[in-house]
Amino acid sequence: MQYTWKDIEQHVNGCTCCPLSRTRKKPVMGRGNHQSDLMLIAEAPGGEEDQQGIPFVGSSGKLLDRLLQDCGLDRTELYITNILKCHPPGNREPQEEEKEACFPYLKYETFLLKPRIIVCLGRVAAQRIISPDFKITRQHGTWTYRKNCALTATYHPSAILRDASKYEIARKDFCEVVKKRKELTGGREREGLGI
Ligand code: SF4
Repeated sequence: MQYTWKDIEQHVNGCTCCPLSRTRKKPVMGRGNHQSDLMLIAEAPGGEEDQQGIPFVGSSGKLLDRLLQDCGLDRTELYITNILKCHPPGNREPQEEEKEACFPYLKYETFLLKPRIIVCLGRVAAQRIISPDFKITRQHGTWTYRKNCALTATYHPSAILRDASKYEIARKDFCEVVKKRKELTGGREREGLGI
């Protein structure tokens, strides 16, 4: 059976597959342009996202918008989601069993979107999506190719909020994403699969 975006959202909204279903306020399904070739993946919704049920609102979201804008991008051109669709209490790191329980939703999102480029935001996403031993400080901005999709990682906006010196690094990484996107697709084709 082929699920639609609506089907996945309905499953996420009613999901009780891990203990986070008991502590979340609102599940946070990915959002954005379903025709995009560019997918951003972070680790989990924060407190503000938990309140609103929308990814990357709040201060991290504002910083992400600034980063994108500085590279000539905006959210209408991309799809953004998290590995976990529910907020871990106290913003703690996602646990292995939570990531595994939630991963099928990300697989479906990726299957439907078929991105040509995936940008992981932060170490946790990069280690789950690109490589378990990914070192964000050393390997941010590097490229891996898988199933017709180019994957890279940069700092999570919340890490930039804690250390402003990372902003310029992340800005350069995103500018390389824009170049890679032009190189691969001209920003139009959708053929990749990614994960
Ligand atoms: S985090 Fe994922 S697996 Fe856990 S309850 Fe939320 S939607 Fe379900």
